[in-house]
Amino acid sequence: MSEWQSPIAPGISWYQATAGERPTYPALDGSRAADVAIVGGGFTGLQAAFNLARRGISVILLEGARVGDGASGRNGGQMGTGQRAWPEELEQAIGFERSKALFDMAEEAKRYLLDFASEHDIDIDYMPGQMNVAHKPGHEKEYRANAEIAAERYGYPHLSYMDREETAERTGSSHYYCGVRDTGTGHIHPLKLLIGLAWAARSAGADIHEMTKVTSIRRASGKTRLETAQGTVSAERVLLATNGYIGELEPVTASHIMPIGSFIAATEPLDAHPGVLPGGEAVADSRFVVRYFRKSRDNRLLFGGREVYSSSSPQDTANFIRRQIAETYPELKDIGITHAWGGYVGITMPRQPFVRDVMPGVTSIGGYSGHGLMLSNFCGKLYADRITGSASPLAELEALDVPSFPGGLRLRKPLLFLALTWYALRDRL
Ligand SMILES: Cc1cc2nc3c(=O)[nH]c(=O)nc-3n(C[C@H](O)[C@H](O)[C@H](O)COP(=O)(O)OP(=O)(O)OC[C@H]3O[C@@H](n4cnc5c(N)ncnc54)[C@H](O)[C@@H]3O)c2cc1C
Repeated sequence: MSEWQSPIAPGISWYQATAGERPTYPALDGSRAADVAIVGGGFTGLQAAFNLARRGISVILLEGARVGDGASGRNGGQMGTGQRAWPEELEQAIGFERSKALFDMAEEAKRYLLDFASEHDIDIDYMPGQMNVAHKPGHEKEYRANAEIAAERYGYPHLSYMDREETAERTGSSHYYCGVRDTGTGHIHPLKLLIGLAWAARSAGADIHEMTKVTSIRRASGKTRLETAQGTVSAERVLLATNGYIGELEPVTASHIMPIGSFIAATEPLDAHPGVLPGGEAVADSRFVVRYFRKSRDNRLLFGGREVYSSSSPQDTANFIRRQIAETYPELKDIGITHAWGGYVGITMPRQPFVRDVMPGVTSIGGYSGHGLMLSNFCGKLYADRITGSASPLAELEALDVPSFPGGLRLRKPLLFLALTWYALRDRL
């Protein structure tokens, strides 16, 4: 199974090669009914399935490829802290109280993910520490303030400012100007978590079907019907957990969540380069087209960066990422690259999650904009909480102002491409 190629994203990942056994789930065979039907077998969908099934709700999950073939099994593995935007930035848009509520929610999401893995005995290769670093000069004040604000206003004492010297020491690179180190978070092997989660959902009674693509959604007699080539599923409630892979299945979601390709390469083990990330922290930089990297448990560099619209071959990805690695670590310019892969990040206009009822009984959740590892797991759980009548802070996310992308279905991709090209250019100036 280590040779399995996701049909919806390019390249075979290092995660795939090291995740161990990856159980398969049968395709749908005939028509069914359930209380809740879920489209999409990433973290959002599977957490919802797990949390519903364990409370006795009948749930069917339909996944067009294999569970984890989307972003959830192929991402950078960085958990982060808070939301995608820094809390002080969010404060400008939505005020302190709401920004604090969203920060606290993300902390709960972090705890939830780690507790879930430990309760289910899933070894997720957790490694502590993350650093946000500035790729341009002039950000010292802002980064210093970020650490202070987190401690004083958000009750988060785990951030510390790093000057240029400390940043160079901790990253092992002189490429960055300053940074903030976060000792309250870490990074993981996402596919191991995904495999364990799918297994937990199945064991709790969720009915999971892979290689079963939903081709249309319609309402009939107060129920929602999901059509697939293998049969129809009808349900009281539907969760669209399709994120950047929505395609044209449902137009409201498609107009709010845009897929952007992001690519990662894994190097040979760095045994001859002990100076690279000596403390084992993960790194995300300040570029608009973010570069993110970390070491794996077996001492490779997993380096991610390129964002494009079309898929590219693993060889192109390896060559492109190698150039980015060499800019950060010149001594690694000839390092062997053993795996190169990509996936689609679902982004929204304001880079905040999209949570909305898009049709009667049909909720869409996604668009975590590159910050979904913790949030997708938690939002799946929150959806289940809502369905079962427990208190759920999902409304905090639902209340965010997330407009659709301009340009309609035909023009929005070229428009976003132009915008991103512009920002990528600015990253270089
Ligand atoms: C390369 C990469 C690096 C990333 N790095 C990080 C990181 O370091 N930290 C972080 O926090 N986040 C990161 N992310 C984002 C994170 O992975 C996502 O936010 C998160 O996994 C989203 O989970 P999801 O379940 O909502 O969607 P996905 O995991 O994308 O799952 C959606 C699923 O829906 C299925 N689907 C779609 N349409 C249909 C249909 N019609 N019928 C049936 N099934 C369908 C797809 O096949 C797919 O499996 C990264 C993403 C990528 C791609």
